[in-house]
Amino acid sequence: MVETRRTTRGNVQGRSKNVRAVQAPKTNGTAPTNQTKRKAIQEAAEKGKGKKRAKNNYLSYLPRSHEVGSDPNHNIRLLNLPRDIFDEITSWLEPDALTCLSLTCKEILSIVGRESWTECRSKRQYWNQTNGSWTHFRYSLIPLLGRDTPHLIVCGPCMTLHPPFKPPREHRKTKLTKSCFGQWSTIDYLPNDELGGYNLLWEHIVEARKSLALESTDKIGSPIELLDGNFTVRHKRLNYTLISSGRQIRKNLVLKHEHIFHGVDTRSSLRLADITALPVRLCPHQTTSTQKSEPNCFTKGRLPSGLLTHSITTAAPPSLRIGMPAPNMFSSPVSSEKKQMDSAVSSGKALWTCRACPTKWHVQHSGEGGGELKITAWHSLGDTAYRAQEYWKMLVRREMWNLGDGKRNSEFFAGTRQYLDFAIDDEE
Ligand SMILES: [Zn+2]
Ligand SMILES: [Zn+2]
Repeated sequence: MVETRRTTRGNVQGRSKNVRAVQAPKTNGTAPTNQTKRKAIQEAAEKGKGKKRAKNNYLSYLPRSHEVGSDPNHNIRLLNLPRDIFDEITSWLEPDALTCLSLTCKEILSIVGRESWTECRSKRQYWNQTNGSWTHFRYSLIPLLGRDTPHLIVCGPCMTLHPPFKPPREHRKTKLTKSCFGQWSTIDYLPNDELGGYNLLWEHIVEARKSLALESTDKIGSPIELLDGNFTVRHKRLNYTLISSGRQIRKNLVLKHEHIFHGVDTRSSLRLADITALPVRLCPHQTTSTQKSEPNCFTKGRLPSGLLTHSITTAAPPSLRIGMPAPNMFSSPVSSEKKQMDSAVSSGKALWTCRACPTKWHVQHSGEGGGELKITAWHSLGDTAYRAQEYWKMLVRREMWNLGDGKRNSEFFAGTRQYLDFAIDDEE
């Protein structure tokens, strides 16, 4: 037997504790409670009023003939049907669809009432045959309403209609979008102030991936507009500019962040200690912060990694290194980090890599003007959708006091992770 929507609705009613047996005569055995109830009330009203009511028993529920001319509703066929046929049709509608119908005009609202609104708001669930699961009418109502609001998106996680997400240069965490994106969905450690910022969401990566060419190419792709960003945060002694871009390099989607620190005082040089004190962060693991983790059983005695601070120190002349944090404020480097530190001394120009995420960076210093330090960082999001997801998780910082060891991803929890090497657009 093919189950109809009507029978499904009957089931929902059956699950409700508010269902009352309606004594109205049933025209046929399967008529849903709503409809029977409505009819029963109507019939009772008619009986009570006798002849007087019969006089008002206007077959259609449209305005009277003298009003019809001005009412555009009379052109709609549905509203010109005899009342019992209209009732029969609407009796087949689920609360979500009936709510939408009730929102089309006052006329229909006055007939079908607001009962379906309450049903959509209730926590009661119904069996969705298409998905094969129990679900709320609220979850099916929102996408239906979304059809009439092309300027809004149906947001699955918070189940509301709200404006589509903005590019990372404009996206801001608001009260409305706070619960939209899960805990792993935002890179929010890049600098921010009320005038600018760069908040990358997983949705941005999904969107950017659509513009990637499938075939491998040796050429460096053109910048993906969505990922562009450029803003400056002003500090007391320096300006911090972040220039962001993203493009395809070989097969991979690669993000590039240029962190530029510019001394504002031309009479004195830019001190490295002023930069590291901000602090600067390239990825969840590479930061100049010397702050210790909140002490608890997971974080006992953990210190941040000092590789970024070390890379900044080696790039600038010794005279500017005054006040830099001592090495004992950081965790001792692991062998792969030690190797990088040693080769930086011998080669002069070094490309540093993070062992816990696909991040590479180099640091340049220029003494012109007030002095300028530039850290160029590249982050790979791999060549496939699967890798993008895997690498993204490595690039999202998670550090909360109540999280276990395995769920954290920060400078205190930077284990060596496997990722494919990636090419960068290092022109210099
Ligand atoms: Zn949302
Ligand atoms: Zn990292």
